[in-house]
Amino acid sequence: MPYIITDLDGVLGHCWSPGDYEFRPKLRLKAHAILTNQGGVVLRLCYRWARKYPGLRQTLKRIRAGMKYSGARRVLAVCYHPKQEKHWLGKILALLGRLCPVIPVPVPEGMIFLSFSPRFRKPSPDGLLWLARGQDVIFYGDEESDRVTALRAGARFVHVPSERSGASA
Ligand SMILES: [Mg+2]
Repeated sequence: MPYIITDLDGVLGHCWSPGDYEFRPKLRLKAHAILTNQGGVVLRLCYRWARKYPGLRQTLKRIRAGMKYSGARRVLAVCYHPKQEKHWLGKILALLGRLCPVIPVPVPEGMIFLSFSPRFRKPSPDGLLWLARGQDVIFYGDEESDRVTALRAGARFVHVPSERSGASA
């Protein structure tokens, strides 16, 4: 039986405006795990213009709602964006990510693995491979970077057209 991994934003739900997130009522996608880029969390800490992105608390809340919605018990949330490397705090957080690639955060729905590592950011296949643990994977995504991630990881890919692009960066 394949291990189902899905993207979060744009697949399970959409951000219509800051603070207004809506899960898709008709999708009914059940998954084992979620792989999501959440670089906005770090950009927000570094730059004034990035205040439009949700912070860590809001992001964890959204991820937990996504776990409830899909049944996923494991999440890899990659809080890294290449743009952070120009800021001192961004550089420190990226260094932390390189030294300690995943930080497990237990939640009632399962386990969220926060990562500040550049290595796990899609379209790198490493996050998908890390979640898959050698299993046969089907990955659901809405963006080209999701397709490339699956291709590089040797996983099957299912494209879920996004109604509108997500809140992630
Ligand atoms: Mg997406």
